[in-house]
Amino acid sequence: MEPSLLLRPGRIGSLELKHRILMGAMHLEIEGRRDKLPQLIAFYRERVRGGAALIVTGNVAVLPEGGGHGMFCLAEPDHRAQLAELAEAIRAEGGLLALQLAHRGRYATSAETGMTPWAPSPIASRLTKETPAEMTASDIAKLKEAFIDGAAFAASAGFAAIEIMGSEGYLLNEFVSPLTNRRADEYGQGHAGRMKLCLEIVEGIRQRVGTEYPVIYRMSGDDCMEGSTTREETLTFARELERSGVDALNVGIGWHESAIPTVGAIVPPGAFGPVAGAVRAAVSVPVIGANRIHTPEVAEELLVRGDLDFVAPARPWLADSAFARKIIEADREALNQCVSCNQACLDHTLGRPPKPVGCLVNPRTGREAEDVPAADKRLSVAVVGGGVAGMQAAKTAAERGHQVVLFEAADRLGGQFLLASRIPGKETFRETIRYFRVALQRLGVEVRLNSAPDEKELAAFDRVVMATGVRPYVPEALEGADLPLVCTYAELLSGARPFGRNIVVIGGGGIGSDVAHYLAEKIRLRPEVETFFAERGQDAQRPAESRITLVSRSEKVAKGVGPTSRWVLLGELKRRDVRVMKGYRCSAITAEGVWVENGEDKQFVPADQVVLCTGQRSRIAPDDEFGDKLPEASWVGGAIDAAELNAARAIRQAYEAAIEL
Ligand code: SF4
Repeated sequence: MEPSLLLRPGRIGSLELKHRILMGAMHLEIEGRRDKLPQLIAFYRERVRGGAALIVTGNVAVLPEGGGHGMFCLAEPDHRAQLAELAEAIRAEGGLLALQLAHRGRYATSAETGMTPWAPSPIASRLTKETPAEMTASDIAKLKEAFIDGAAFAASAGFAAIEIMGSEGYLLNEFVSPLTNRRADEYGQGHAGRMKLCLEIVEGIRQRVGTEYPVIYRMSGDDCMEGSTTREETLTFARELERSGVDALNVGIGWHESAIPTVGAIVPPGAFGPVAGAVRAAVSVPVIGANRIHTPEVAEELLVRGDLDFVAPARPWLADSAFARKIIEADREALNQCVSCNQACLDHTLGRPPKPVGCLVNPRTGREAEDVPAADKRLSVAVVGGGVAGMQAAKTAAERGHQVVLFEAADRLGGQFLLASRIPGKETFRETIRYFRVALQRLGVEVRLNSAPDEKELAAFDRVVMATGVRPYVPEALEGADLPLVCTYAELLSGARPFGRNIVVIGGGGIGSDVAHYLAEKIRLRPEVETFFAERGQDAQRPAESRITLVSRSEKVAKGVGPTSRWVLLGELKRRDVRVMKGYRCSAITAEGVWVENGEDKQFVPADQVVLCTGQRSRIAPDDEFGDKLPEASWVGGAIDAAELNAARAIRQAYEAAIEL
C-alpha cells in the first residue's frame, strides 16, 4: 500500500506536524550522563534529519524514587540543564521534541534509586519482586505538583510538547488499574477514584501551561493483565482525559509484567490497531499508536482503517534513522527494517547490568556522534563471506569510498541470517538481507557468488576482510553422530533434510530452542505448512504422535536468548507440546534413538531423526592453515569467535573493521 494518509500534515493541539510519522519514546540508557550528552544530541539530531515529524524523549522521571539507571530526573538541576541543551539543539536542527514525563512507580527499584518505590498500594510486581510503599496523601500531592512543574519546565526549556507517561504499568497506570490500586481513599475505590489522580494532573498542567501548550497523554489501551481495567473503563478514561484537556492520546499496550507478548516478532504487525481504534472512536482528539508498526505499509493501513491519526514507532527508528525520510522520498527499497529481535535495544536496557541501546541491523545506532570518515585513499578491498557481517563490512567500506569486491561461497547472500529466517518470528531477517543487497548494488560493490578466493587471488587486493562465519560443530567423540538419522541444524533449516516424525534436538541453547520451535511449527497442520510439505513432495498429514524432544545440558534452556524473547520462546515450546529434558546430556545415538543421562538417570528416547545443535566452529580462523596465509587481513564475526552466535556483535565488528581500513 503506497503511503498517502501517512504523508498528510496533521495537528496535535496547536502543534502543526508536517506528516503523521512520529518517533515514539525510547530509553537509551545514556540519559542523565553529561559525558554522553553529545551522543544523545547526535542521536536525536540524526532522527530529525531522518524526517521525524515529532520525537518523544525517553522517560524523564519527575521525582527520584520514580527514576532509575541511566535516566534523566527533574529533581537534578544538572539534568534540567542538559535537557534544556538537548531541546535547544533539536530546535536549532529544525526538529520538534516532546518531553516524556514519567514516574516508574512499582517498576522502579530501590537498588537503582536508593529509595523505596512508590505505588498506589503495596503490591509487589512480578518484574522487580519488590514491595513498594503505599503513597500517602502528601506523596500524592507531591507527585501531582512534580508532573505539573515538569510540564512547566518543558514549556520554558523549549520542548515542543509533553507526553505524560500513563501506560506500560508505570505509576499513573497503576492508579487506574484495580490490580494495583486497592486504596480506601478518594484515589481508589471504583473507577472514578482510580482515574482521579491522572485527571487532576492533566487539569493542573493545563492551568499551569495554558491551553495552547501541546499535551499528549500516553494511556494504556489494554493492560494485557487479567483482572485489570476493563475495555469500557478504558474508553471512559479516554473521554475523561479529553475532557480534562489533553490534545492527543497515545495508546500503549501491555505492562512490562504482562504474560502476553506485545513487542516481539511473534506479534503480528499492526495487531493492536483495533485497540487504539476503539479509543479513537470514543474521542475527538487525535490518537497515536505504536507496537509492531514496522513498515510504511502497516502504518498506512492503520490510518486507512481509521485506527490511528499518527504512528509513533520507536525501534524502527533505531534500525533506520531515516525511517520517515525514506517513506517521504518513496525510497522503500532503502529502508532498513527493524526485525523485532530486541537483542541490542530492549534486551540491553532490561539486562543486568543494563547497557546502552544499539541496534542489531544498524551498527551506527548509539554512535551517531562519531563520523564515518571518507577514505584518504581509494583502496581495493576484498570482503570474504556474504553473511550479514560481510555485507556490512562491504557496505561501510564502499560508503567510505573504497572499491569493494564481496565474495560468497554459496549461491546467494545471507549466510546464517538466511538459515535463521526460517525460524518462526525471524522471517523478517530476509528483509535485512534484502536491504544489504540493495545498498551494495547502489554502492557499486561487486558481488561474486559461488566464489571462494584463494590467497593468491586475495593478494591482489590492498585490504582483506574475513567474514567467513561459522559451520555447525559435530562432536566427533559422540557415538553414533555419523548415523544417517543425524543431521545438523544447518542441514535441517536449509531444507536439505526432510523432517522425521519423532525428532530429538540435541542442544538446548538459543539455536536448539529455535530449531525445536521451528519443527513444532512445521509439524502442525496449517495451510501454509501443508504447502511447505507439498512443495518438497513430503507427506503433509503428520500423524498425531509426531514428537519433538529437546535435550538441554543446562537446566536453563535457551540460556543465551535475551530477556524479552526467552520467555516467549519457552512459552511457544510449551504451547506446542515440545518435550524439554533439562539437565540431560546425550551420551550416544543409535539407529533407533538417543541415550540421554543426567548423572542419576539414564533414558533411551526413540527417534527417527536427531538434529545436532551442539555449537559451531569458525569456517576459517586466523590461526588455521588458510588464515596463516593472510597475516594482514581483518577478521570479524564468527571467523574470530564462534562460541556464541551473535549477529549484533558480528555486524558491529564488521562496521568497525571497515572504518579502520
Ligand atoms: Fe529492531 Fe532488533 Fe534493532 Fe531492536 S535491535 S531496533 S528489535 S532490529
